[in-house]
Amino acid sequence: MERPEEAHPDEILKWAFDTFGSGMVLGTGFGPSGIVLIHRLQYLQLPVTVFYINTHLLFDETYALCDKIEKRFNISIIRVESRLSLQEQARQYGEKLWETDVDLCCHLRKVVPLRNYLADKTAWITGIRRDQSETRKQTKIIGKDPEYEVVKINPLAYWSRKKVWEYIHMHDLPYNPLHDHGYPSIGCVPCTEKVEPGEEERAGRWRGSAKTECGIHVSSRELQGEPTK
Ligand code: SF4
Repeated sequence: MERPEEAHPDEILKWAFDTFGSGMVLGTGFGPSGIVLIHRLQYLQLPVTVFYINTHLLFDETYALCDKIEKRFNISIIRVESRLSLQEQARQYGEKLWETDVDLCCHLRKVVPLRNYLADKTAWITGIRRDQSETRKQTKIIGKDPEYEVVKINPLAYWSRKKVWEYIHMHDLPYNPLHDHGYPSIGCVPCTEKVEPGEEERAGRWRGSAKTECGIHVSSRELQGEPTK
């Protein structure tokens, strides 16, 4: 696609669907950007499969939002999960792995399941934006994802948080109620805290550790864990 930086998200989505067809999927953690994209796909009548990574550690509000979105958009959202149950993970790696090795926990519960899921896909769409954190400032609209060997498409990379929320309210779209209670970015319960006014959107994720990403949007260190295939 020529000049994706100047293209409207709809143009990017249509180009992507024409190019990758059913080999393309949309991944969401049910943040507002992902919900905007689900809404645009429906408006454009592009039948793109939507998935999320179910770590089994998400907030009740997030699972409720997933149900709400399925009903509102009349879609079925794929749950991508680790082959390791939480009990099996505790048995093999110890209780509350998220307290002893966050990288390994994210690797087992998010990175490996995503890698397996994307193994037969050609492209994935995400809602990540440049204004979410320092680590996302260089996000490309379209690029090769070296971690998963697929094309990664971020149609809202250049949108601001303000613009996303204006869109959500303008179209009366469902969103996670925790956003109204100090949680601008929401992941797993053990690793998500409130943020203070003026802090970065993702400052409440893995607070107190150097970790800023779970590894699904940046290359993660290779760890010995669940087999990838
Ligand atoms: Fe584990 Fe926390 Fe990563 Fe969730 S965010 S997979 S609980 S380390």
